[in-house]
Formats: sequence, structure tokens, C-alpha cells
Amino acid sequence: MSQPEICPQVRTSHRLRYNRQPKEKALSNGSRRPVAAGNWKMNLLRRDAEALCQGLCAGLDTELATDIVLFPTATLLATVARQIQGSPIALGGQDLHPDASGAHTGDVSGPQLADAGCGWVLCGHSERRQDHGESDVLIGSKARAATDHGLLPLICVGESRDERRAEQTFAVLRRQLTAALAEKPASFEIAYEPIWAIGTGEVATPELAQRAHAFLRQTLTELVGEERAATTRVLYGGSANPSNVADLIVQRDIDGFLVGGASLDSGKFLDIIGACARHQS
Ligand code: PEP
Repeated sequence: MSQPEICPQVRTSHRLRYNRQPKEKALSNGSRRPVAAGNWKMNLLRRDAEALCQGLCAGLDTELATDIVLFPTATLLATVARQIQGSPIALGGQDLHPDASGAHTGDVSGPQLADAGCGWVLCGHSERRQDHGESDVLIGSKARAATDHGLLPLICVGESRDERRAEQTFAVLRRQLTAALAEKPASFEIAYEPIWAIGTGEVATPELAQRAHAFLRQTLTELVGEERAATTRVLYGGSANPSNVADLIVQRDIDGFLVGGASLDSGKFLDIIGACARHQS
């Protein structure tokens, strides 16, 4: 039986075709293709996921100048994989175990994610560090396991409110980044997610975010060399929404967004994708 056309390439008046817009800026992040990533966390049932994917697919142009990736709950991976077939949207897991298989009840491995159609995986999201006590060292093992199994890890780092108040932000970011790259994953992207901004509505100012991103890129230069540091995408995450992303994406070291709440609404997520694509075009 042939597959139903689940992500029709329909043309709607809302369709995003930003790749055809004129070039406006030549900032230094113009050379890095932006990423709009949606972290669905532990939300949605299959029917909600289907509707969300259909809303996204209907509004996207296949030639958008932006990478788009969705990180659904493991139970939704098969549903989302079917829905995004033929679209420019990539799929990612929210976590992986460092081992390829074995007696690890409740966990999911890199090969299993790849088998489910994933190309990406989140490593070290602050909710996993907090809720599951994930250590910096474990996150380093996960990042390495990801690339060993053909997945691109999106490594999340970020300070708590107390750490920022204590002026420990840069020390925390350096420690987390150094540990995450200790096992030398073959490739990676970074998400700067200040914990105090996640799910709070309190977005980092563009200046504050840019300072953290520039620090991360400088630290990457020390850890992996200038060339890789210059090409690594550093995404901002923490209450990103359509009303604040335009001011963030023009910062020279901000290369896109890891979006929680706003990615659960196709209109809002399309607006965020549009802001990334407009900046790149
Ligand atoms: C996240 O959890 O990765 C996140 C950025 O969430 P929110 O956008 O809801 O703050």
C-alpha cells in the first residue's frame, strides 16, 4: 500500500519562502546557517504531534535558508518521522544513553534513535541535569556516543540564577563545555540556555546573550581550534518567542534558537523559523 501524502508541499499565502528575499546583512553569523530547533519536552499525544507537524509542513518552503529540527518525546518519534517525510524538517531525540544497547530500563540508545529516523540528539539539557542528576562527565560520554552512532549532538549549557548572581556564569560555561567535549565528539552544535530563562518568560537581553555566546565561541577556539569554533552553531534557548527573536538573531554569535514552549504552536514556531531565515537571506 502506498504511503498517504502526509506532508503535502502545498502553497499557502503563509508559506515561508525567505530564501528568495534580498540579502540584507553581512554579519559574521551570516556565514553559519541558522538552526530553529523545537524541544517538545514531555508534551503532546500522537494526534497533537500530527496536527503540529501538518501545520509546520504547510507553512514551510523546502528551500528555506535555515535548518529546522524537532525534538519530540521518544514515543512520538515514529509519528513525527512519518509526518515530516519529504519536508525540510529534521528529527532529534531528547536524550540518549552512552551505551549502544544493554540492561538500561527506560533509556534509549544512539542506534535506536538513528533507527527511528533521528539525525540529532540533545545532550545535557538542564532539565536532565536537574531531574536526573546528569553530571558533566556523563554528558561528555553521551556527546561522544551520539557521534559514534551518526547523530549530531546539540550540547546544552547554561548557568542557574544563583550562579549568575555569584558571577560564576563564565566559569560554569567553561566547565560544562570542556567536559562535554572531553571525549572528542566528531561533530557538535551548542545551545546556550540560561536556566533562569527557561520556561519563565524572562528572556536574556540580546547583549547578555551575545556576551555568553561570544565567551562560548572563544572557549571553543581554545578547545577545538579557531576553524571549528567559527563554524559551530551556538543557539540561544530560554523563553525565545516571535516577539524577541529578531533582536537576538542579529547578534554576531547567535546562530538560531532552541525553543521549548513556543515550538508547541506551529504559528509561533514558523515565525521563529522565519526570523532566522530572513536574517540569513
Ligand atoms: C528549552 O527547554 O530548551 C527551552 C528553551 O524552553 P522555553 O523556550 O520554554 O524557555
